[in-house]
Amino acid sequence: MTTQPKPALKLFTRYPVAYVLLYNGVTIAHYVLGGIGIVLGYESWFGTILGVLYLVFAFVQMYVLMPVEVCPNCVYYRLDGSLCISGMNIISRRIARNGDPRNFANRARGTLCHNNLYIASLVIPIIAMIPALFINFSLITLFVFIAVIALLAFRFFFLFAYIACIHCRAKAVCPNAKQMKLSSDS
Ligand code: SF4
Repeated sequence: MTTQPKPALKLFTRYPVAYVLLYNGVTIAHYVLGGIGIVLGYESWFGTILGVLYLVFAFVQMYVLMPVEVCPNCVYYRLDGSLCISGMNIISRRIARNGDPRNFANRARGTLCHNNLYIASLVIPIIAMIPALFINFSLITLFVFIAVIALLAFRFFFLFAYIACIHCRAKAVCPNAKQMKLSSDS
């Protein structure tokens, strides 16, 4: 019996708009719920300041720093008519100069590299809510805490694996896809 070769995975030059909306919807929901969880968790001026600082950090690293620092070196910046999974290649072309594809891996180099900021934006609210749950327990904070963890798991186990990285034209050179073993076509 002969085994049929697996069909090659489709790489998107333009991600379907539904995928882009899902990616950004999950990202924004994570940040907003995370910020709300911090504010509700501490119920004080301290929590409010922490929650607001977190929201500013999360949105700036994703929607300002990424199109300025990371996207100019990405293949989607240069591909005609392209739309990447975050849609940030469109913003990047408007606000940043063309970069160098050889520097794309720099996104994962150094302590303050964009990858670390991105991971921090996902993990900070979870870490920040743990003490709040001990000091000032409430069911609503617990619910938000669980929801943010669920969004994180959804991102890593479904969004990256089946929607984003798996169809990405940059995955062969992307350190994130390599780390998640999603960089090959099979
Ligand atoms: S492989 Fe994944 S993390 Fe890397 S650029 Fe593509 S979508 Fe982004």
